[in-house]
Amino acid sequence: MPTYLFRCATCGDTERVFPMASVPATLDCPACGASARRRPTGAVLGVGTSPAMRLLDATARSASEPAVVPSVPAAGGRRVRPVTTNPLHRRLPRP
Ligand SMILES: [Zn+2]
Repeated sequence: MPTYLFRCATCGDTERVFPMASVPATLDCPACGASARRRPTGAVLGVGTSPAMRLLDATARSASEPAVVPSVPAAGGRRVRPVTTNPLHRRLPRP
């Protein structure tokens, strides 16, 4: 089921899950009980806990909200794959 956003004038936004066929235009604010109107946003689909759904969400989100890093990541953390796996090549002179 999709998640919808409702806004209370005093408390702010509240997210609620409703079936698409029965989403109300207003609901009672969980904090103060006043009427909270549904915000005109698209339904948030695919917010799941499975790794595949999180990957799809992160991929879609990176198109509009790319991650900004302060510097280029160091190459030290990356494992370097050996050029050859022949054990005889290990005894060759190194530059
Ligand atoms: Zn409220």
